Amino acid sequence: MASIGAAGPKRSTTTPTEAAGASVLPATFRVASLDASFAVEYGLWLVALFPFLLPWAAWHAARGTLVEALFPASWEADFVARLAATGGLWLSSYGLAFCVYRGARCFSRGRAAKYDPRVPGWRFVAGEALRSAGGIAVLAAMQVAVAARARGAAGAAAVPPGPRLAAGAAVVALWADFHFYATHRLLHTPALFRAIHKTHHRSHNVDPFSGLSMHPLEHLLYFSALLLPGAPLWVTNLISIAMVVNPIPAHLGYGPLDRHHWDHHTRFNWNFGSSMLWDVLLGTAAPKRGASLSAAAAARAAEARNQRALCVGGADE
Ligand SMILES: [Zn+2]
Ligand SMILES: [Zn+2]
Repeated sequence: MASIGAAGPKRSTTTPTEAAGASVLPATFRVASLDASFAVEYGLWLVALFPFLLPWAAWHAARGTLVEALFPASWEADFVARLAATGGLWLSSYGLAFCVYRGARCFSRGRAAKYDPRVPGWRFVAGEALRSAGGIAVLAAMQVAVAARARGAAGAAAVPPGPRLAAGAAVVALWADFHFYATHRLLHTPALFRAIHKTHHRSHNVDPFSGLSMHPLEHLLYFSALLLPGAPLWVTNLISIAMVVNPIPAHLGYGPLDRHHWDHHTRFNWNFGSSMLWDVLLGTAAPKRGASLSAAAAARAAEARNQRALCVGGADE
């Protein structure tokens, strides 16, 4: 089994361009922009996480009607119950994703679709899972704190009917994506990257368990999305689900849905969003290799090389 972190030839540039060459860069790479395919890709990003909710949803459906089972008010502020429920969501969804990740390699088309044919070793994956489990404990503690604050607000956890639920889900999707973009971009400032975020970037050739493999302080920042001002408890619960499951499609290492974040893990200081939306709007989408860059983009590229060197020993890819 090949290990991760093996590298292509070292390269350096003295001109304001991204390093040339693309040893494992997807052949389909294109610069994210608001073109005709954007709506399709954004729609796919929205639905990509739902298949990984199936084992968890099946479990809850077996216990009663799904929505009632999702948010029973009685255990909202109980840490052990929260840990069990959120841990169950994490284990079932990430377990399924890991089966997909490894199972796809049994087929020639699956092997061909994987961006990097190598796979991380089991010990490395176990380390990622252990760090992720710590994050689930952080999330459970934050869920309890939010639920305790909401106590007394009658019906706060009750999920409203159709239209309000759909509106709430749309708010959650936009908020979770924006919150991740903003905090992730902050974590790529040089000091915070070196102190905190490089832990996540130890996963260079990603697998599903890379998704929540973070420094504990990054877990706190990541799950602070729960603190959306004015959000009722049922919206906070939806945010919890989104923040647990969102990283899965981005860390599969296969196919078009992973392209945006895969490129973040290979080129570092670009593509901060979960979807490409905020990177396109705010000018941080990864440029084509060899493209001439503005002064600001050249500075970003230089810091990207520093961050890459810190995590993968100076290797370009
Ligand atoms: Zn990542
Ligand atoms: Zn990052």
